[in-house]
Amino acid sequence: MNYKLLKQIIQENNSFLLTTHVNPDADAIGSEMAFYFLLKKLGKEIHIINTSKTPYYLEFMDAANVIQYFDEEKHNDIFNQVDVLIALDFNRGQRMVRLENLFRQSAKLKICIDHHEDPEEFTDYLFSETSFAATGQIIYNFIKATSLVEIDLSIAEPLYAAIMTDTGSFRFDRTTADIHYIAADLLNAGVKPNDVYTNIYNTSRIGKVKLLGDALQSLKLYGDKNEIAVMTISNEAMKKSGADEADTDGFVNLCLTIDTVQVALKFLELNEGFKVSLRSKGEISVQKIAAEFGGGGHRNASGIRIREKNMNTFIPVLIEKVNVFLNSLDQNKKS
Ligand code: 5GP
Ligand code: MN
Repeated sequence: MNYKLLKQIIQENNSFLLTTHVNPDADAIGSEMAFYFLLKKLGKEIHIINTSKTPYYLEFMDAANVIQYFDEEKHNDIFNQVDVLIALDFNRGQRMVRLENLFRQSAKLKICIDHHEDPEEFTDYLFSETSFAATGQIIYNFIKATSLVEIDLSIAEPLYAAIMTDTGSFRFDRTTADIHYIAADLLNAGVKPNDVYTNIYNTSRIGKVKLLGDALQSLKLYGDKNEIAVMTISNEAMKKSGADEADTDGFVNLCLTIDTVQVALKFLELNEGFKVSLRSKGEISVQKIAAEFGGGGHRNASGIRIREKNMNTFIPVLIEKVNVFLNSLDQNKKS
């Protein structure tokens, strides 16, 4: 990756707008906050504007309350006033939802820093490392490689949160020795792992845990060998529980704990349309399946957001697609 170029862009410009994807996770918010403090140390002007509100369990990273919730009227001009727009932790323009048009129409320099597969060219420069576990890992390596600033606790904590969550607390495939060295370095900078973990994972509202009960009740297995798990959450159940979309992050991973399951699908009905979360074990790429429906992500974790279609009619279509996909993998193995 061309860290020199990124460094140069930062040094040669004064004002920056940071944004991330809809329904931001800890890598999204952590990357924004780490980048914010990096730029702040260099005396830059920074705006962070997101299409979604920060989930309550990530608010600890934004103690200074610098992240702004996008408001078309209020933020209309800012996209053409700053020198550089930075997209963090996503690689498709549509993932900015309400911000997409303003971002695309801006004549200012645009860069994307991300680790998802199959990027769209929606920025002038793309700093992408798909082998990395988190966007936070890219930012860490960038700071180390360029010595642009010192990694103090203000930067270390959001980076740790980003890396901890995107590696599933250091257990997913991309958990390398490097990742553990980075984590160690962040701990040396003062990060308290238990504090970060507690803030993110031990702050659930009861509605979320009850909704998880509903979601688990809905669980069904499909395929000849019960290799596909499907979980559905209706809009009605969401409303009843008082939980929100972000609360359901992680539910789908529980489906993978079933021995026969190779692919897990979570269907979540939203006020407008629905969202599918896809997870897989090992070499099976759910990214390829998601891409066929306009979604994307990583090999073992991808998502699709659909506005037009009806969720209940789409469910069997996707299950069949996964079934055919898994059977074709089996065929390939045999031949
Ligand atoms: P999740 O299911 O946890 O929301 O998302 C899993 C992964 O897929 C994340 O890395 C996320 O960034 C990506 N992802 C989720 N939804 C979408 C989508 O609608 N489009 C694309 N391109 N990626 C998505
Ligand atoms: Mn990420």
